[in-house]
Amino acid sequence: MLDLSKRKFKEDFKRMLTELYAMDIEQSSPAEQYAALGNLVRSYSSKDWSETNQRYLEKEKKQAYYFSMEFLLGRMLKSNLLNLGILNTVRAGLKDLGLNLEAIEQVEPDPGLGNGGLGRLAACFIDSIATCRLAGHGNGIRFKYGLFKQKFVNGYQVELPENWLQNGNVWERRRLNMAVTVSFYGHVWMEKTKSGYLIPHYEHDQRVLAVPYDTPIIGYENDTVNTLRLWSAEVPPQSEGTDYRAYMQQRKEIESISEVLYPDDSNYDGRLLRLKQEYFFVSAGVQSILRHYRKMGLSMNHLAEKVAVHINDTHPALCVPELMRLLLDVEKLDWDHAWNITVNVMSYTNHTIMSEALEKWPVDMISHLLPRIYQIIQEIDRRYVLKASTLFDKEMVGRTRIIEGGHVKMAHLAIIGSHSINGVAKLHTAILKEKVLHDFYFIYPSRFNNKTNGITQRRWLMLSNEPLSKLICDKIGDDWEKTPTELKMLKAFRNDAKTLSQLHDIKRINKERFAEFVLQKMGIVISPDALFDVQIKRLHAYKRQLLNLLNIIRMYLILKDHPETDLYPRVFIFGAKAAPSYTYAKEIIKLINTVAGLVNQDQAINGKIKIVFVENYGVSLAEKIIPAADVSEQISLASKEASGTSNMKLMLNGAVTLATLDGANVEIRERVGPENIVIFGLTAKDVYQYYQDGSYHAANYYDNDPVLHRVLNTLIDGTIPGAETEGRHVFDSLVKYGDEFFVLRDFQAYVEAQNKIDRLYRDQLKWQRMALINIAGAGVFSSDYTVRQYATDIWDL
Ligand SMILES: *Cc1c(COP(=O)(O)O)cnc(C)c1O
Repeated sequence: MLDLSKRKFKEDFKRMLTELYAMDIEQSSPAEQYAALGNLVRSYSSKDWSETNQRYLEKEKKQAYYFSMEFLLGRMLKSNLLNLGILNTVRAGLKDLGLNLEAIEQVEPDPGLGNGGLGRLAACFIDSIATCRLAGHGNGIRFKYGLFKQKFVNGYQVELPENWLQNGNVWERRRLNMAVTVSFYGHVWMEKTKSGYLIPHYEHDQRVLAVPYDTPIIGYENDTVNTLRLWSAEVPPQSEGTDYRAYMQQRKEIESISEVLYPDDSNYDGRLLRLKQEYFFVSAGVQSILRHYRKMGLSMNHLAEKVAVHINDTHPALCVPELMRLLLDVEKLDWDHAWNITVNVMSYTNHTIMSEALEKWPVDMISHLLPRIYQIIQEIDRRYVLKASTLFDKEMVGRTRIIEGGHVKMAHLAIIGSHSINGVAKLHTAILKEKVLHDFYFIYPSRFNNKTNGITQRRWLMLSNEPLSKLICDKIGDDWEKTPTELKMLKAFRNDAKTLSQLHDIKRINKERFAEFVLQKMGIVISPDALFDVQIKRLHAYKRQLLNLLNIIRMYLILKDHPETDLYPRVFIFGAKAAPSYTYAKEIIKLINTVAGLVNQDQAINGKIKIVFVENYGVSLAEKIIPAADVSEQISLASKEASGTSNMKLMLNGAVTLATLDGANVEIRERVGPENIVIFGLTAKDVYQYYQDGSYHAANYYDNDPVLHRVLNTLIDGTIPGAETEGRHVFDSLVKYGDEFFVLRDFQAYVEAQNKIDRLYRDQLKWQRMALINIAGAGVFSSDYTVRQYATDIWDL
């Protein structure tokens, strides 16, 4: 922990401003103040950073590398100040200088190098790994443009480029001396040497320079600083002698590799680029790991004792053949030996059971782009089939092999090439074992394990909800900050009227703050007295924002018919981006915005319902919304949400969960007890039963439930002006085309659950007790515990 006095900080800060900009405070803008502060934090952490690396090398510590296509970091300034233990000193020092930390913080762009849960998990993990003093680092891509910036135009999502690096990035350091070369295309032929080795010769391949940008990941109040290494694609220096136009063309092609997260995958070139991205950061990462390993002077035989590589979802699954390539072609190991090492080094997390998300690459594409890697995949597959055929029937082998039907199945590659395969919540892991990966569970039972996701209490409580953090410290001290399960001590206050009313007051302050933000940004007036009902997550049919919307329409119709109806006033808050090519999700965004336009304007309902759909949902917005939430909507179709993590963030901030028994909601219920959560709807078992019977007939629910009938009709009968086009599509998807995610089936149960919320919220004493029990039970969902389990059970650190 850094020892820094306020006086020293103020001197350092003024000096840094002068050094960087030749300015004093009065002349400087927030952007310059931010840069000065960022540079200062950088310098404060640099000694620990180099010492941490030195320590790992000297002690020959085993290190884990978390390979992830996404790291959804959020802003780093306050998080770094907190972890260095100087947040309060710096805030007070700035105040003395007439500056405001929160205003300066606004200058920092929110790096959107991820879509949602998966990328945010990676960010929570690297923070927790450093905090737990574990030797683990992130490895990914330095995308020049993050996930698109979302705007609403006439209610439609419009995607704009997110140029987050425009004004530079104080946290990263470019390390050109650690660049490596990654090779694509061309031909490979194998030369057999006299001693019997096969040496690959690459011809006409395209070489790309992978340049690492390292960001320090600072542990909380300890001296550990790990590294997030993000790779950028550049033209190798030797190609500068080529023809100017050819050079520019080549440069454009190469730089596109690290340009955008998730290129448009609706065409061949976009998909090819995505595969390039995957191999690019995998090859660069694995090469740099081996380079570091060689520094220790150990033989490759001991690699698995010193290195763990984690494959976060299938995107980095090429780690398996890439490590094989390096062990075979460069280190000259024989196949069996190399394979044994590879399997012991690799581990894989499955994040979804949605079949469209299980990656497959056409053989033509992969063999053209990565000829040597494809040879190795073929050999892995051949050997797998050979061995499996002696043990299992043909169908089983066909279902589990890697290359099948002209495609390479990335999940199969990851599973066959890893010693550990984990799901991300108990229910999800059970479904993997019993259904989705049942064959593999039969083949490799001991490889399967569960690691329920987690979140860092530092970002999601200590930083984003300081009033609540302070109250908790006043009640139970600060042990929970490092041992989050200590939050359970709060339960002692469950019947303490004063504590419960303090909880109420804090929630009220946070709601006022958010209401002010909504007024400023959107011009919508919302009352902090209303119940704030929050659904924030990617827009996807399985997450069922539509179910939420149908209930809102139902409530609206009640108020139109009978304005005096005693519904507790609600503000429905949405935040969600839809994938640019996902038409159905975009239609739902448009529908929610259209209904919002109607409901928010309608004087007849007396402001009893408001709908706030915030634009451009991301980490920084989540930090504003979550402390103000009363209700946490986790209403995915049971079996479809692998874990969820917004459910954990929201409970930690005292929201009551309204949920299906899906993902980690099941474990949240175990923690808080059924009386402190509102559960409704089909279970995963019910859903699989329906699949088996084929007995779900959505249209029956439309025909037989008069309330639902009327609600659905509003989508197509002009009740909601401007909803006709999207309304018709959505109506048809539900009533005509089978309602894939059982929205109509769960509608009535959801309505009853919402009515229950309405009743519960009226008794504030009881409600705040539920909130308190939720906060008290959230400790186990700290990612500090999750990464410790990874470290012990999987990585063996
Ligand atoms: C936590 C988080 C998510 C994940 O939300 P789920 O509801 O678990 O899908 C997505 N996006 C952001 C910005 C987050 O912070």
